[in-house]
Amino acid sequence: MAGPVRVCPECGRQFEFSDPAWRCCGVPMRLAAPPAAPVPLGQLAGRPLTTWRYAEALGVPARWWQPATLGEGITPLLPAGDGISVKVEYASPTLSFKDRGVVLLLAQALAAGASRVIADSSGNAGTAVAAYSARVGLPAEIFVPSSTSPKKIAQVRAHGAVVNLVPGNREATAAAAISAVESGGAFYASHVYNPVFHLGTATYAFEVWEQLGGRLPDTFVLPVGNGTLVLGVTRAVAGLLAAGLIPSAPRIVAVQAANCAPLAAAWRAGSSMPLAVDASPTIAEGIAIAAPARGAEILAAVDEFATVTEEQVLAGRSELARKGWYVEDTAAVCWAAARAAGGSWGEVVVPLSGAGLKTGWTPASPA
Ligand SMILES: [Zn+2]
Repeated sequence: MAGPVRVCPECGRQFEFSDPAWRCCGVPMRLAAPPAAPVPLGQLAGRPLTTWRYAEALGVPARWWQPATLGEGITPLLPAGDGISVKVEYASPTLSFKDRGVVLLLAQALAAGASRVIADSSGNAGTAVAAYSARVGLPAEIFVPSSTSPKKIAQVRAHGAVVNLVPGNREATAAAAISAVESGGAFYASHVYNPVFHLGTATYAFEVWEQLGGRLPDTFVLPVGNGTLVLGVTRAVAGLLAAGLIPSAPRIVAVQAANCAPLAAAWRAGSSMPLAVDASPTIAEGIAIAAPARGAEILAAVDEFATVTEEQVLAGRSELARKGWYVEDTAAVCWAAARAAGGSWGEVVVPLSGAGLKTGWTPASPA
């Protein structure tokens, strides 16, 4: 077993796990196949309480993931009222769901024999790459927008990574990182371009399936910027369906901030490509992506899009805090959308994707 294979959707060329190539024909690669299914429920008992209890589904040899793991996964799933359950993803080693995918990127860096790592991020993926690079002993250079929350930047630096603050939007940050990668010598730990990341986020759905006793909810409500969680969950659903472990696919609802919603706008217009939008700043910094590189892929994978206003995000964050969950702004978007849907999506699971301690916080006045 040599690890998951990537494929270029344009020319069909396949790339082994140990190949550090990060794009082909100018477009992001995809996984050659959806993850295999986890072993049956009865056989999961007694396994490690991390995502690696699904090791067969991920297909990455232990010699590469074992040095990289920080014990990610198996986050709490709890009912929170109104038919909505929350999955507490900020109970992860670096306080966000990105750990699920980043552990696989660093496993791949080891497989590729990398000597250093570059990543770009709106914040949380960068902190995760910095931590997991430290774990495997590789120097890391992280590019983030200069507007990124100071606490996330401090977290990156604490792990010993070099921080490059890039003026402008998230796209400018990606361009700066890609330019550094192209100059040679570094492994590009990209959660946007590298589909191996989606194998990691697939474990979010595997866990929900296991925690609900071998079934999925009616609806997954997921945040979408670059689609890292959406694309993992939809691939996990494909794997579970193919193995006959679920009878039908749940509804996938993706949520964007109304101030930056190129995918929701496309969905409403019936377009298969993201629309060019005049994005305004949003407090949901983790999903502020005006031109998602995998836009068409996300639009094909999602059943329905929703948007939330800045006021709804703040109110949702306050509401969650009053229930005991202290999240960052971006992590309140799915809760806010599910509350606004008023039960029309049936039984819903939403992720609390990142910790409140990562950003500043001003409580909203109750609506
Ligand atoms: Zn190609």
